[in-house]
Amino acid sequence: TKLNVGLLFGGCSGEHEVSISSARSIAQALTAEPNAQKYKLLPFYIGKDGGWRSPEIAQQVLSSGTAISVFEEKPNRWQFPAEVSAVDVWFPMLHGPNGEDGTVQGLLKLMQVPFVGSEVLGSSAGMDKIAMKMVFAQAGLPQVNYVAVTRSQVWSNACVFPKLCDEIESQLGYPCFVKPANLGSSVGISKVRTRAELEAALDNAASYDRRIIVEAGVVAREIECAVLGNEQPKASVVGEITFQSDFYDYETKYTVGEAEWFIPADLPPSVASEIQERAIQAFMALDCAGLARVDFFYVESTGEVLINEINTLPGFTATSMYPQMWVTSGIPYPELVDQLIQLALARHTK
Ligand code: ATP
Ligand code: MG
Ligand code: MG
Ligand code: MG
Repeated sequence: TKLNVGLLFGGCSGEHEVSISSARSIAQALTAEPNAQKYKLLPFYIGKDGGWRSPEIAQQVLSSGTAISVFEEKPNRWQFPAEVSAVDVWFPMLHGPNGEDGTVQGLLKLMQVPFVGSEVLGSSAGMDKIAMKMVFAQAGLPQVNYVAVTRSQVWSNACVFPKLCDEIESQLGYPCFVKPANLGSSVGISKVRTRAELEAALDNAASYDRRIIVEAGVVAREIECAVLGNEQPKASVVGEITFQSDFYDYETKYTVGEAEWFIPADLPPSVASEIQERAIQAFMALDCAGLARVDFFYVESTGEVLINEINTLPGFTATSMYPQMWVTSGIPYPELVDQLIQLALARHTK
């Protein structure tokens, strides 16, 4: 008998459309041979309103590739489509808050059904850039200097805010990067070079998140590494992203032709293997499971390798970095999907 794979996509985050693209590729891999022998696809679409939609509606979204924004019915947060009870294993492919951050993982855990990817701790600690950097520091992973900020400091009275900006300037200097702590796809991130830009960027980031991080800017090559596994995770060959824009912002990420990928990256073998080792260390330090994409800065002038971040549910279209790094490492896309499901089942039965 076939296993019912509950593909969960869409979601309440700025990365809703990216999730639909990722889910389409996974659906295709599940419904083609040889996976179709083992698995039956049961898709569920989470609308931007948070409501879970039936496999019938989900299939429409997968076929058209476009979000449904207006629904007949109002979402009932605690009412799930009846088909939910038929799911044998979940494959959440939700990016950003309310999906990649441990919230959905907690729900799936309560359902007592196995699911692909990290559990609550790995997901939430991997999502919050401040918590993530604290764990990385404790694990001895080199990274950029940063200052953790809260919304209340930014939106405070005229006494606290200038002091905060003074502290950031003296600790980090310019340029620095201001980021909402819990987001992805570069949403809400600014590169700032002056006091006025810093003030505006903090205010903007505070509109996205209660928690904000400001990081010292580095001039570096951007290298990514894919990790796969549970207790003994493996690292893929590393890949590099290049672009002309000021930094790898939202437009550069999602406009065709703006960024270029090189897999494997053209790096000294010792640097590549150092990155692979650190990717696994980061994965284990956060107690990740299944998959994660770990992103690094390689400062060519000094030879330094700095960890930037981990993404526990990275972009997963057939052409995304994570699957492509595995293709080059010898695991074709459909086999990767199969392995991730098997890793979820293995974790559950332990
Ligand atoms: P993702 O879509 O990968 O989840 P994200 O939204 O979590 O991305 P980051 O990876 O933290 O955002 O930053 C986005 C981009 O901004 C980086 O890829 C890089 O181009 C630039 N950047 C971020 N932090 C720094 C830094 N400290 N120094 C230099 N460039 C940086
Ligand atoms: Mg990220
Ligand atoms: Mg992300
Ligand atoms: Mg990133």
